[in-house]
Amino acid sequence: MRITNVLLVSTIFFGFTAGANAGYTPDFDGGIDVRLAIQAAIESAASAGGLVPAMPGRPAPETPVWVSMEKSDVGALDGALFKRAPVAQNKNIAVYEFDPADLGQLADGMYRAFHRAPGYFAHDTLEAALQDLEAPPAPPSRAYIIDQGPRLKGILARVKEESIVSVITSLSAYKNRYYSSATGVDSSKWLQQLWGKFAEGRPDISVAAFKHASFAQESVVLTMLGAAEPEKVIVMGGHLDSVAGGGDNPAPGADDNASGVSVTHEVIRTLVESGYRPAKTIKFIAFAAEEVGLRGSGDIAAAFKKQGVAVVGMLNLDMANYKGSPLDIYFITDNTNADQNAFLGKLVDTYTDYKWGSSKCGYGCSDHASWTKNGYPASLPFESTFAQYNPFIHKATDTLDKTGGRAEHALKFARLAVAYAVELAK
Ligand SMILES: [Zn+2]
Repeated sequence: MRITNVLLVSTIFFGFTAGANAGYTPDFDGGIDVRLAIQAAIESAASAGGLVPAMPGRPAPETPVWVSMEKSDVGALDGALFKRAPVAQNKNIAVYEFDPADLGQLADGMYRAFHRAPGYFAHDTLEAALQDLEAPPAPPSRAYIIDQGPRLKGILARVKEESIVSVITSLSAYKNRYYSSATGVDSSKWLQQLWGKFAEGRPDISVAAFKHASFAQESVVLTMLGAAEPEKVIVMGGHLDSVAGGGDNPAPGADDNASGVSVTHEVIRTLVESGYRPAKTIKFIAFAAEEVGLRGSGDIAAAFKKQGVAVVGMLNLDMANYKGSPLDIYFITDNTNADQNAFLGKLVDTYTDYKWGSSKCGYGCSDHASWTKNGYPASLPFESTFAQYNPFIHKATDTLDKTGGRAEHALKFARLAVAYAVELAK
């Protein structure tokens, strides 16, 4: 297996706007554009009243994080978590300074009180957190056309349940994939190696770690470069981390969210083994640190926005293998894009016999919210209604045996995601 040279990958990763910014040559260090990272650090220090920020690319002792959350949630949580008054607020949302060590406990409190996971956003800088007080920009409307039937027929036939089961089994074998634990870091390295195999013999495919300035777990990005319009990007993926009360507790996270990462893997495998080459670029991402405030996807979506990356659509895969409700797939309607959700429903009708419905999280429940917040059209096809999701998540009992060692339900999401990729990246 091989992981493509980080410098080369970073150039592809951040290279889209370099041409538009004549005279500026990105300066990379461990996958981070140093100039931009330093700029962000300076802004961070200024806005945080002179705090020294973590240096990019190498996790330092954690400096405070800035959490934005619904004001109405605060009263139900342990008051000891909130050491200081909010630093800013609007009618519904407040921003708090937090010790990163308390994030696991905050996530646990949110889950116990509201079944929200995590139910708040955590940011490295106050500046980024303050953006949550503003209304997100609306993405431009687009025409969705479904016309890849002949091409998709052969590709869809290759999607396999066994391959999804195999990746769920490997990921859930880690004691946990918590964002700050050793096994959380190891699971990311393992996935980088696994995905690195897809780049062999394919110069248009590269795999890179997205290093986060404030924590050790890396997000994993596989880029399939578009043959005709590489500057247009489709993002697909789900979070890699898992949690069960924080820290180093056992958290196999078979459904939440080894299932979503495994579905993402299956889409890559199917497309690669079909010899498929997209016209637009597709970035498959396993996000770090979702469970502690959408931190991985928050970093990446903000970096894309800052770089002016033209994201055509984002598909979030989070919990796909527990059939808790009568229909097969439920599209979450809040913090997502209605037009793209309708397009996904049509894809289900066109390419499968599955039945779909709609449901609501009631808050920014997963990584799609980070993309929505940055003005990109994002969707979450979910395993059940939000009220009937897998009752074992965030516990040591979120294991594959709860679904009989099978991935029949997740298979439906893999088929939908393959159709989404091919119809959008044409
Ligand atoms: Zn999840």
